[in-house]
Amino acid sequence: MTNAPPPPSTAAQSARTILTRLHEVMAARSNAQSKLNQVVGIIGECLDSEVCSIYLLRDGALELYATRGLKQEAVHVTRLGLGEGLVGTIADQIETLNLDEAAAHPDFSYRPETGEELFHSFAGVPIIRRERAVGVLCVQHADPRRYEEIEIETLQTVAMVLSELIANADLVDTAARTDAAAADQSAQRLSGQKLVDGMGAGIAVFHQPRITIEYTVAEDTEAERHRVYAAFDKMREQIDRMASQAEFGGGGEHEEVIETYKMFAYDEGWSRRINEAIDSGLTAEAAIERVQQRTRMRMRQIDDPLLRDRMHDLEDLSNRLIRIVSGQMGTAAQVGLRHDSILIARNLGPAELLEYDRRRLKGVVLEEGSLTAHVIIVARAMGVPVIGRVNDVRTSIREGDLLLLDTGAGTVQVRPTQAVQDAFDAKLDLSQKRRANLAALRDLPAVTRDGIPIELMINAGLREDIAALDLTGARGIGLFRTEFQFLVSATLPARERQQRLYRDVLDAAGDRPVIFRTVDIGGDKALPYMNTDTALEENPAMGWRALRLALEREGLLKVQARALMEAAAGRTLNVMFPMVSEPWEYEAARDLFIKQRAWLASHNKKLPVAIRYGAMLEVPGLLETLDLMLPHLDFLSVGTNDLTQFLFAADRAHPRLAERYDWLSPTVMRYLARVVRTVAGSKVALGVCGEMGGRPLEAMALLGVGIERLSITPAGVGPVKAMIRSLDLGQLRADMGAILAQPAPHPRGQYLDWAKAHQVDLSDIGD
Ligand code: PEP
Ligand code: MG
Repeated sequence: MTNAPPPPSTAAQSARTILTRLHEVMAARSNAQSKLNQVVGIIGECLDSEVCSIYLLRDGALELYATRGLKQEAVHVTRLGLGEGLVGTIADQIETLNLDEAAAHPDFSYRPETGEELFHSFAGVPIIRRERAVGVLCVQHADPRRYEEIEIETLQTVAMVLSELIANADLVDTAARTDAAAADQSAQRLSGQKLVDGMGAGIAVFHQPRITIEYTVAEDTEAERHRVYAAFDKMREQIDRMASQAEFGGGGEHEEVIETYKMFAYDEGWSRRINEAIDSGLTAEAAIERVQQRTRMRMRQIDDPLLRDRMHDLEDLSNRLIRIVSGQMGTAAQVGLRHDSILIARNLGPAELLEYDRRRLKGVVLEEGSLTAHVIIVARAMGVPVIGRVNDVRTSIREGDLLLLDTGAGTVQVRPTQAVQDAFDAKLDLSQKRRANLAALRDLPAVTRDGIPIELMINAGLREDIAALDLTGARGIGLFRTEFQFLVSATLPARERQQRLYRDVLDAAGDRPVIFRTVDIGGDKALPYMNTDTALEENPAMGWRALRLALEREGLLKVQARALMEAAAGRTLNVMFPMVSEPWEYEAARDLFIKQRAWLASHNKKLPVAIRYGAMLEVPGLLETLDLMLPHLDFLSVGTNDLTQFLFAADRAHPRLAERYDWLSPTVMRYLARVVRTVAGSKVALGVCGEMGGRPLEAMALLGVGIERLSITPAGVGPVKAMIRSLDLGQLRADMGAILAQPAPHPRGQYLDWAKAHQVDLSDIGD
């Protein structure tokens, strides 16, 4: 934050005039109703608006509490449900409406008692308390005109102050509602979305004891400005310290998260907006919250999950700033967890999560959260189950309640009954036993009962995943998704940073092989900082992605090639290209690597002792020309996730299609058998690296058609190894011809029957 404040903007000035007058009203010794009557008068007058009204939430509906311009008979008579009419929509969606013709809006609901038919234009903003709308402030005008941005901003600022006034006067029923719910002692079951798999039991702990902003109108603007300066300094200090103490093996993705924090913490735009809010007469806390509210409202309108996730990092920092400025620094992490706990938060920043004691943290419940958020990536690495998008958290759960988290079932049991606890314990016990049994297989070879060795590797993408190599006893990393580093970064990772990650992965793997897949970005893995226009594509999965993009954005691939070769200097580098559709694409990518190698050699750089090249088979058409590519390939890995979506022309992310086609269908199995036949006789090593291989029954079928290398999710290694060790592969292969020639209507049943008849261990088939 710069030390010379810019002159206040007109918006700030107009808000400040109103705030000064409101401050006097609030300080006066009149009753709440008369204060509200004065408030609508002041706002209407200052904004030169014929109508100004305040609706407040009472008994679940928005009641007209005060108005200037509408008929006074309507006060305490006109009531709108949440979501009803324009006012109800504003409160329900926590959004601002600015309309030149109110009646033309689809949500408009005419209330004759108000006499509002005289007024055409309408603007309304939510009055927010504890992130929930407790009322609506609106203005109306006879002329059909839109309100200026300045006027809307002023209304939003005023709404903040009103929230203080109505809370102090106990005018709304949020407290009553919360208390009523809190008094409810009965068991409850909340549902949400699995973000990190697992089960956990513990005492409910709220991450942030709520900070309620007590004063919104500043007495002394300069003093507030200095409080914010000091808070910014302190926050930056904290972030810098975090950066120097970065966890997880001294850096890595966690470090990248902190880089995002740093970017925001030093962002001049953010501090300027806070400064402007202070200019309008708000206290430091209220100014920070005001800016955060505005950002939240904007983000609600942007349908970009990746960008939204990055905005969560900003929320995290904004909360931190409010805590610093108000001197209430304590999160539950600072107090420390005293029991096994389940942490509850609206959202959580990754660094905040890392502050908790992992031994006591048994799970996390988020009101928001999404799969691609930084915090989820970190939680996965910490081994903490997370469930997200759980509604009613704050009204249903109290600090200290017993919670049972089962992310597989997508549930949080609150204050469970004994019967629910018993069932949960039994399930947890079973899954722990199974895990212990499977862990015992770690050092045993993945060899079938009839002696055929199978190569079991894991899929990885983050530095934290490397630990899974030792934990699972896998033979190596068969797919390292390099784009993950790009996805969790705030900016395109520079060559040095890429190189550092690759080197660390290779160091940790030792003599176990690692197959690095070059970036598979584009499609649904769009990078917010890279202008690829993929968001505009109608069919992103079949669009400009992966190798297609990398061959055109040659710079990107060159940098990655250099980073990989430098990281693998003195060792073997295994590199694989995604989404190869025709052999020339593979040749072009390989040529680029060969040229980069020559460049490094000509500059006397240390080189990998060998480079092995591979391609992914995920576009079905490639099989038609695969024979042409084989002589130049060292290995081929079938990406069944993409392959099956293209074979069936069924979007892999479409929820309606998720269950429609079976990986065990003859379409897939016959296709794979053909791949095996095509590759047979060449020196090319063939494997599968899609999710399918991590499921024991599917893995069995893959072995049946002749696949002997699988790269799978780490959690699948134990169950798949148990299956392999119990399988008579010779027998399965002998029977496979018949299964493929005469598939049953439900092929899954056919494979299951075979497995049962031949005592194959499918004790954890994960279905
Ligand atoms: C696949 O498509 O099967 C694959 C392994 O790659 P990804 O899931 O990263 O697209
Ligand atoms: Mg793929």
